[in-house]
Amino acid sequence: MTDPLLETTEFDPADDEESSRAPERAKPRQRYKLKDDTGFDEVPKKYRRFYRRWKGKGDTLAPNEVICPVCKVVIRSARDLRVGDRVYCMPCFSRLTVILGESGLLEAKVEY
Ligand SMILES: [Zn+2]
Repeated sequence: MTDPLLETTEFDPADDEESSRAPERAKPRQRYKLKDDTGFDEVPKKYRRFYRRWKGKGDTLAPNEVICPVCKVVIRSARDLRVGDRVYCMPCFSRLTVILGESGLLEAKVEY
């Protein structure tokens, strides 16, 4: 089975469909230029800029980044992420939903 996400030329780990659950859907998204310098080699070169390794303590997440709870890889979107967004973690094939964590920061939870 081919993942339809991977067939699009404009791949982005975040689903482009605006979620109705996102409370701020009317606000335009900020776009991010992803530099291909993450050194992340667990996915094909083409998709590398959408993922990076979490560096641990001292590392921070940008508004367009969220950590995969399964493999702890940082997923990066070309736009800022919001609650209700669905993202795809290619390294571990997880489909995730962006939620507001207890810390007030965005987190991802696995969709079953
Ligand atoms: Zn993952």
